[in-house]
Amino acid sequence: MTNLKKENDIQLYVVATPIGNRADMTFRAVDILKSVDLIACEDCRTSAPLLEYYGISTKLVSYHKFNEKQRTLEILKLIDEGKKVALISDAGTPCISDPGRVLVQELFEKGVRVSAVPGACAVPAFLSMVPRFGEEFSFIGFVPRGEKQQQEFFEKYRSFDTVFYESANRLQDTMQNILEFRGEKTFISVGRELTKIYEEIRYGTIKEVIKYFENNTLKGEIVCLLYAQKTADGDDLDLIDKIRKLKKSGYSDKDISTILSSLFDVNKNKVYKLSLNIK
Ligand code: SAM
Repeated sequence: MTNLKKENDIQLYVVATPIGNRADMTFRAVDILKSVDLIACEDCRTSAPLLEYYGISTKLVSYHKFNEKQRTLEILKLIDEGKKVALISDAGTPCISDPGRVLVQELFEKGVRVSAVPGACAVPAFLSMVPRFGEEFSFIGFVPRGEKQQQEFFEKYRSFDTVFYESANRLQDTMQNILEFRGEKTFISVGRELTKIYEEIRYGTIKEVIKYFENNTLKGEIVCLLYAQKTADGDDLDLIDKIRKLKKSGYSDKDISTILSSLFDVNKNKVYKLSLNIK
């Protein structure tokens, strides 16, 4: 069934399920879910149709944020008795903005062998299909609600490409806050309904994307990438972009610092130093 060494030692499998397209279930996920004694799932009603589709008739038990402490104890007891358990969530990878962390942490501390059966997850799927200008990114789960919390969040992650989840009916308000706190030059990618019929990616300035969704369907599941505005050293990416363009047009570092410092409120010396370092 699998070539994983010491498969027999594994007591809890953390199994990813599709994020929209049923065919994204892995062969191994099906094998493991059939073989375990119990599947802990976020909502049995949501998982039942998928499991039935793949001919998986293993017993189900709910595991969600309101019963995770109690269920963790029950699962530990079963594992102590030699049973094998799999954890799934409604969609995608458990523990990624989904229940599971309490269980995994508890089992880890007790020395129980936990192993992942990887598969679909909205974050890597999305990151593999949008423009990106560097490898690093932050992922924060669901964007905080409330204007003040959002302002702090957008400030905190100014230097990072930041991936977040948001609901379709809050997205326009959140993007308006981004526009207000970060300004028009902010770039964003919005992924909607990934792996499903109406899959869509929108990339552009925050203003363009807000305008687009004023006139087009905004429903379904959403994941966003808010692009960094400053480098990790605090340098303004917009300024760096301007320097790059002037360099391409053949201007010297000295000319660039004179031009940009006279047009914008930036220190001439700082521009010169930045320019020296930009290829
Ligand atoms: N554990 C899941 C994963 O691996 O992606 C995420 C669970 S979280 C509760 C659900 C959120 O993930 C949705 O509200 C949406 O923001 C995002 N998401 C899940 N599936 C998606 C999809 N097909 N397209 C876009 N975003 C999706």
